[in-house]
Amino acid sequence: MHPEFERIAPPGSSGIKIIIVGAGYGGLACAIELWSICGHHPGLNLHNYLGEHIRFQASVQPLFGAYSYNGHRAEIHQVLYNYAESLGVQINLGKEVVSCWEDEERGVSGVTTVDGELYEADLVVASDGVRSPARKYVLGYTDTPRPSGYAVYRAWFDAAEQGVDKDPLTRYFTTDGDVFYGWIGQDVHMLSSSSRDGKSISWVITHRDDTPLLDQWSFPGKMEDVLKIVEGWDPRCAAILSKAPACIDWKLIVHDPLPTWISKVSRVVLIGDAAHPFLPTSAQGASQAIEDGVTLAVVLQLAGKPSVPLAIRSWEHIRYQRVREAQLMGESTRDKWHQAKPGDRGEHLDMPRPEWLFAFDAEAHAYSVYGDIAKKIEEEGYQLPTLS
Ligand SMILES: Cc1cc2nc3c(=O)[nH]c(=O)nc-3n(C[C@H](O)[C@H](O)[C@H](O)COP(=O)(O)OP(=O)(O)OC[C@H]3O[C@@H](n4cnc5c(N)ncnc54)[C@H](O)[C@@H]3O)c2cc1C
Repeated sequence: MHPEFERIAPPGSSGIKIIIVGAGYGGLACAIELWSICGHHPGLNLHNYLGEHIRFQASVQPLFGAYSYNGHRAEIHQVLYNYAESLGVQINLGKEVVSCWEDEERGVSGVTTVDGELYEADLVVASDGVRSPARKYVLGYTDTPRPSGYAVYRAWFDAAEQGVDKDPLTRYFTTDGDVFYGWIGQDVHMLSSSSRDGKSISWVITHRDDTPLLDQWSFPGKMEDVLKIVEGWDPRCAAILSKAPACIDWKLIVHDPLPTWISKVSRVVLIGDAAHPFLPTSAQGASQAIEDGVTLAVVLQLAGKPSVPLAIRSWEHIRYQRVREAQLMGESTRDKWHQAKPGDRGEHLDMPRPEWLFAFDAEAHAYSVYGDIAKKIEEEGYQLPTLS
């Protein structure tokens, strides 16, 4: 909690009981409110596909008063998971939720698992990811995603096991601590980085994909298809790509902004990717899921148990516009990289780090705006959120 604000009540004493579906970023952040990790953050070394260096984007530390830290998403997720567990958050793994419901009269909501177990609470937080089964309950219809026209091949592996440190074309990933390299071509870009002080490698290559969208969006990738994309490119690309023992072919899909993230009775709420999926080029999906969770904790604290629906209606209004702007940034970064002309170089190719996005304290913001927003909703009634 923010030091300027006193807790209204000690942990656990509000009496509000919450079921969180999904122990991903949104779910864990919502449960523990804060997170921390260690490490340094490398700058982005951007090249065109031929290997000509076109931009070094330094990692400014601190940026807008905050330090950033480097790590793979799975590692950071493990940090959050461990911390939530250490706090005593009850995490029930392997429970697949198949339905949710709410009862306005009794002021409760709940979920049913595939094994037929029933759980009841004051609020269900559906942080169940990009393929959220709860989304249909909240919207009342199936929100069908559209293909974005792109897919991403991705891999994450141990540097030493795959001989990254032995190959002169890839050794630089392991010798200088963590590094971050990018290559851009027409309608395609590749990013590769090391983490854990050069011990882990990850790469992603975002490319055109016009195959129709099937039920499944993630497949085992074929390395020969990956390598075909970088034929004629800087040889360092094929060298690091081919070190991966396997990769995933992940279709990037587009969801139009949902008209709402909260259910009719306001006792089931979508957060994170369930509410607003992001393109990887925004590098914001996990961040915004965490902000969702933090903000939700503040509004529930301030509203108290009798006003859970008012809290989450206010929460939606606090989050909606900001999240949309962050989503659009992912599309513009992808487009500027994919449309870069040969010889293009310079600052305009940087990954955006705008002040409105990075110099933002979601918790303090929620404390400062909640009262006015809740009052307006009480006086004027709940309206669907709008985008300006
Ligand atoms: C290649 C790539 C790179 C990325 N890079 C970044 C980045 O640099 N920065 C960034 O901020 N974000 C990044 N992201 C996005 C980020 O990973 C997601 O936005 C984030 O994981 C969303 O968190 P979430 O909690 O909403 O969903 P998830 O992390 O997907 O968690 C959802 C959880 O719900 C569970 N679940 C689903 N259905 C059910 C059910 N029926 N019952 C019970 N549980 C269920 C799932 O098993 C899962 O554990 C990247 C994503 C990709 C693919």
